[in-house]
Amino acid sequence: MAENKRDYYEVLGVQKSAGEDEIKKAYRQLAKKYHPDMNPGDKEAEVKFKEVNEAYAVLSDADKRSKYDRFGHAAFDPAAGGAGSGFGGFGGFGGADFDFGDIFSSFFGGGGGSRGNRANMPVEGDDVATRVTISFEEAAFGCKKEVNFARIESCGECSGTGAEKGTTAETCQSCRGTGRVTVQQQTMLGYMQTQRPCQNCRGTGKIIKTPCKNCNGKGRIKINKKLEVNIPAGIDNMQNIILRGQGSAGLNGGSAGDLIIEIRVKEDRIFTREGNHIYCDVPITFAEAALGADIDVPVLGGKTEKLHIPEGTQSGASFTLRGKGIPNVNTGRKGDIIITAVVETPKNLSSKQKELLEAFAQSLGENNTKTRQSFFSKLFNK
Ligand SMILES: [Zn+2]
Ligand SMILES: [Zn+2]
Repeated sequence: MAENKRDYYEVLGVQKSAGEDEIKKAYRQLAKKYHPDMNPGDKEAEVKFKEVNEAYAVLSDADKRSKYDRFGHAAFDPAAGGAGSGFGGFGGFGGADFDFGDIFSSFFGGGGGSRGNRANMPVEGDDVATRVTISFEEAAFGCKKEVNFARIESCGECSGTGAEKGTTAETCQSCRGTGRVTVQQQTMLGYMQTQRPCQNCRGTGKIIKTPCKNCNGKGRIKINKKLEVNIPAGIDNMQNIILRGQGSAGLNGGSAGDLIIEIRVKEDRIFTREGNHIYCDVPITFAEAALGADIDVPVLGGKTEKLHIPEGTQSGASFTLRGKGIPNVNTGRKGDIIITAVVETPKNLSSKQKELLEAFAQSLGENNTKTRQSFFSKLFNK
């Protein structure tokens, strides 16, 4: 048994030097993640849950932790002859039991009782994730969207008791509702009393004679939910909206998890976005570029605005429409729209048009294409 066990620090994902708080924090997260009530029917999660509890029972107790640091798993393995040897007998029920931790607590006197009955320990509910896809404009202006997700809720039919409506869960006779039984063990040191979870009620303290049909006696049930969510103006692709307490219900008074909504923003046909600025390439004609023009350019909301292109505009020149971009999701301050003029070279010219253009080209003087002249004079006069 010892050689197959994972290192307790590794199980909790903490360093050997981890402090008490760090160990506690790691345990809480993992216990929540693998709690059987959060993972109904998931055998792997159940095994992990046991493993995490076992690791925590040892590492949370200074005495046991130091034994473990010195002897490893052998410290708690009766067969291995480590520090724990001599306390024979507990292997017999260890296999069937959920709660190794408390068994160790009682054997090593680590104040195991103070942690109380784990069956009633508050456990926070799981976070639930979902995704919603919106358009470019919806991101720019904000929108309301219906999101669909599944979360675990307390069963409405039985009010979370797990007992069929009209019946009640009875107090377990074996443990008188405490969920724990005291067992006498003969050891080398004489009789020892130890507590373990009641097997009759699986540590819950209650016996359900007629399980609720809606939740199969679990008291909790997975529900598909729809929720209308306000998506704020300015949200960007891959950002999350977190709705506190809209995730799965907690256990034993533990708070509910969160709903995490991942936002996907569809690409726009003409705009691209960088932060709160938006960019758009606008084709202009050669004549517009040369002579100057007032052209229509797109702005948000499916509208256009007039933009003056000055005489002699080069292809690739950009023009900024200040404050016409997307608001910052927190401050509401808007970015800009940056329009880039792209000169479209005319194609499919008729012979008449070609003649005109050739005549035009002949007419060009030094003054008309200064950039070109300076480029070639640099090229040839190196
Ligand atoms: Zn129910
Ligand atoms: Zn019981």
